[in-house]
Amino acid sequence: MSHDLRRIMKVADRPPLVMVEGKGSWLWDSEGRKYLDFVQGWAVNCLGHSPDIILDALNDQARRLLNCSPAYYNEPMARLATLIADSTGLDEVFLCNSGAEANEGAIKLARKWGSRHRGGAFEIVTMEHGFHGRTLATMAASGKPGWDTLFQPKVPGFPKVPLGDLEAVRKAVTPETVAVMLEPIQGEAGVFVAADDWLRDLRKLTRDLGILLILDEIQTGIGRTGRMYGYEHAGIEPDIVTLGKGLGGGTPIAALVASAGASVFEYGDQGGTFNGNALMAAVGCAVVTAVRAPGFLDSVATSGRYLAERLGVLAAELGHGEVRGRGLLVALQLQGRDATKVARAALDRGLLINAPRPDTLRFMPSLTVSRDEIDGMLERLRLSLDSAT
Ligand SMILES: *Cc1c(COP(=O)(O)O)cnc(C)c1O
Repeated sequence: MSHDLRRIMKVADRPPLVMVEGKGSWLWDSEGRKYLDFVQGWAVNCLGHSPDIILDALNDQARRLLNCSPAYYNEPMARLATLIADSTGLDEVFLCNSGAEANEGAIKLARKWGSRHRGGAFEIVTMEHGFHGRTLATMAASGKPGWDTLFQPKVPGFPKVPLGDLEAVRKAVTPETVAVMLEPIQGEAGVFVAADDWLRDLRKLTRDLGILLILDEIQTGIGRTGRMYGYEHAGIEPDIVTLGKGLGGGTPIAALVASAGASVFEYGDQGGTFNGNALMAAVGCAVVTAVRAPGFLDSVATSGRYLAERLGVLAAELGHGEVRGRGLLVALQLQGRDATKVARAALDRGLLINAPRPDTLRFMPSLTVSRDEIDGMLERLRLSLDSAT
């Protein structure tokens, strides 16, 4: 079967394959080739491809109600908001459709809060190499090298500091500042973990200065790090959290979550046609409930330790660098190999891995990945590292 791919806008350098089916950790293309998937839609399919839990939620909800417009409450919307509030310890939830939209909402919310409580302050201190999405404001909030000159003029108000530098944050905060915004682990940058004690210091500093702490948990949330949310490792409580990716387990849903004090939107400030639609919200409920089930997060942490440990052994043996990350968000620093070439070689061997940087591979399998699948990945990775020169 051949596919006409010419009408698809060229926004990504994709291999000439068409994926047609997935189950658990496996994906099949239209030629019947099988791939062990350690990308999982960029840490999105947290329960693997097409899990029964999601199929059932989709089926049940689709029969009852797909969408009733954001002008009315619906039942899954209420359930998911309650689940997210319970699990974050925060108070109010705005459901939306993508991570960038959730972050865009967080930026608007912080600016609104600034106009109310900080004399119109609007600046948000963000991190070098951070990633917050691809809308104009979230690109400006991101610290991805090269993005500072794209799509001018840029949305103003996002001074950058290095991750882990408390003094730099202190210096960047002025009377114009409303918040500090960051990822607990910088995922797209190549998996750099914000140290727990630094996050605690940052929480204290932002409280002392009277500004908000916004955590982008779009990649780290919903169990990815072995805890429900990345910030739990540091034992802190942010004012605003954004969720996406894993929240829908492969379907498009995201959330903006805020404490009562930070939740200052008034009618008309925020909205969107598909926001809180019943079908996606029902899936979100099923995913959050599955990830919070007894034992689930322990097994993520155990699988994560196994993956990191085995990667460490392989790296030591083959002379590669450090293994970084937490839970099932892990990176391997390569020595003398081009990560993009390794990822291509892996694809030829039936393994999907991601190369966020020229010297870094990233692993973000299903949270339900088995030991056998991790071993299978390592075997294919070893061969790919050998062949990709
Ligand atoms: C993926 C990601 C986003 C953007 O989410 P989209 O759904 O692609 O808009 C934002 N922040 C982080 C940390 C992400 O990993």
